[in-house]
Amino acid sequence: MLAPLRGKGKMVMVPTMGALHEGHATLLRQARALAGSSGTVVASVFLNPVQFNDSNDLAAYPRTPEADMDTCRSCGVDVVFMPTPEVMYSGDRSITVEENHLSTVLCGASRPGHFAGVCLVVGKLFNLVQPTDAIFGKKDYQQLAILRRLVRDMDFPVTIHGAEIVRGEDGLALSSRNALLTPEHRAAAPCIRKYLLEARDAYESGAAAAAVCAELRAKLESIPGVQADYVELVDAETLHEVTDEKRLCLLAVAAWFGKVRLIDNTELSR
Ligand code: AMP
Repeated sequence: MLAPLRGKGKMVMVPTMGALHEGHATLLRQARALAGSSGTVVASVFLNPVQFNDSNDLAAYPRTPEADMDTCRSCGVDVVFMPTPEVMYSGDRSITVEENHLSTVLCGASRPGHFAGVCLVVGKLFNLVQPTDAIFGKKDYQQLAILRRLVRDMDFPVTIHGAEIVRGEDGLALSSRNALLTPEHRAAAPCIRKYLLEARDAYESGAAAAAVCAELRAKLESIPGVQADYVELVDAETLHEVTDEKRLCLLAVAAWFGKVRLIDNTELSR
């Protein structure tokens, strides 16, 4: 639909759900650099209801459309696609797009239907915008891995790029959910990164994966009010058990800080 806007160069897309922060801005600037002066950068801002399995989570999600437009403008975005749910979805929609292997673990285990909602909306966005390239953050590493599968298995002519996690000075991965933390939990949250790095060092020095994960979980749960959802060391591509230690691996964490669920991860190898 937006393809006619595309000139000879690349059309680089950055899908987002809005409430844009410096993490998103970094992706947008990377998109601008990738597209170059002859290319086009498209940001989508769409709070996709289909990927929320908890209506309270959707209701609490921050919405800042005007500030989002300013951010897009200052990052050199050419086109902002900001549809309403009614534009995106027919009331009697009946097609699902489900990935059935990578989606069963990590966040997929505790958020049923979430990644089917992500695959549906990203598939639709790719059809509507027809980008040559799309950038997704490694902050949502599982999402990135699943979308690589979506593109491979559904033959979308889009090159997927993974962007490194953008962090605050204290090491906490930037997220719109950080603003929902209590002051105590906000102060404690940078420990996630610290403990991840300690765990990565231990694994890369030869410690067993199970022991590394157990220790990381125990450290996180020693923080008052913190409950780990998962702490897992998996193959970075399949997101399942490590069968070849020489391949790139992923140490991924999800933890409840009170009512706020935070995720973070690090790649590792040995
Ligand atoms: P969201 O609006 O949460 O769906 O995020 C839109 C895109 O921005 C996704 O590809 C995210 O992985 C990415 N993103 C969000 N926060 C960060 C971050 N702190 N570092 C890198 N990428 C991020």
